[in-house]
Parts: sequence; structure tokens; C-alpha cells
Amino acid sequence: MQQELPLRGLGGHRLCFATNNRHKIEEIAQLVEASFEIVSLADIGCHDELPENQDTLEGNAFEKAEYVWTKFGVSCFADDTGLEVMALDGDPGVYTARYAGPQRNADDNMNLLLQNLSGKSDRTARFRTCIALILNGERHLFEGVVKGRIAHERHGAGGFGYDPVFVPEGHIRTFAEMTLEEKGAISHRGEAVRKLVAFLRG
Ligand code: IMP
Repeated sequence: MQQELPLRGLGGHRLCFATNNRHKIEEIAQLVEASFEIVSLADIGCHDELPENQDTLEGNAFEKAEYVWTKFGVSCFADDTGLEVMALDGDPGVYTARYAGPQRNADDNMNLLLQNLSGKSDRTARFRTCIALILNGERHLFEGVVKGRIAHERHGAGGFGYDPVFVPEGHIRTFAEMTLEEKGAISHRGEAVRKLVAFLRG
């Protein structure tokens, strides 16, 4: 069983993960195990739509974390992820969630991506995650990247977002065909979270 380690500046306090995405909370819980208590926005009584008005992943991550820290006074972290496709000059990037429109629909997004890549030989892409941490008012940033390629069609039923069309480098299965453990060990968010946890452990 994993030994609980002291966490920098947290004492017995909770650390809020500022997201409404339950898949992400599950993924993070998987990665940090029993190291510390991660609470959701609902747990701290926040039912607001968090602002995401910046034009960079870093900017959006800090905007969301600042919102929670300012309004609720709880140490927190927020993430923002983009899928950067080389043949599309880095698109959809910061617009990954709403690539096909404001409905933020994963199927629509994947359809548009596959359509925009049809006929292109270079299908390389990467996911990049920025995590902004506000710990007792101090700001910190962590980044994780996973390289891969966009498949020609969907495979697998797990995960969320673009998982059915993203094949990480060195693998033949998509993220949607992997378990949470497999995905977390190599994913963009996994890497960023491991950096966050290493920092928290001091
Ligand atoms: P967010 O900033 O983490 O909410 O990510 C923006 C968008 O990127 C999401 O709405 C998803 O479409 C996509 N995305 C983020 N992380 C992943 C992932 O791990 N797998 C597949 N798609 C993801």
C-alpha cells in the first residue's frame, strides 16, 4: 500500500480540481491514488460554468483556477487541453472542445477532424495539457504532452473526447481502447498530473 506523503502547504485542506468533467476526476483519482483528497466543484458548492476566454491553454487554465480561488477561497487546480494536429497548422488547439461548434459535441468534433484530414498523408498530432495550480494564492504551471497520430476511423468505446481517433506514438490502439491505467501512464494529462503531484509532495 502506498505511504501517504506530506503535501506542501496543504495541511489537512482539500484541493479542488476545477472541472465539471467526471471522466477527468476519475482519471486523476486513478493517478494520485490515496495521496490526497481531490474534491470536485460540486463538493465545494460551485455549480458555475467556469470562464475560458483566453487564446492559450495556459491562459484558460489560470482563468478557471483564479475564478475558483477568488470566489471560493479553496486551493485548486484547473487544466486545459488542446489537440494540435500538424497538417492543420496546430488546429484545433485552444478550440479543441468546440472545434465543430458551440455544442461541444465529441462526435461532431471527430467528424470534422476526420473530414479535414481526408487526403492528408501526415496525420501526426499531439495532446498538450496545461495545469494551473493556485496553492494558497501562489500560482504554478505544469505541462504534459503525448505525441501520436489521428486514425482513419474511430476505434474503441472508452474515454472521452477524441480518444477513439487518437493513437499514441509507439501503440496501435487508440486511447479509447485502453484502460484508464494504460491511458494515464502515457497521456498528456497523466504527465502533467505527475508533475503536479511531485511538486505537491515537495
Ligand atoms: P479540456 O480543456 O481538458 O476540457 O479539453 C478540451 C477538449 O479536448 C475536450 O473537450 C476534449 O474534446 C479534448 N480532450 C481533452 N483531453 C482529452 C483526452 O484525454 N482524450 C480525448 N480528448 C481530450
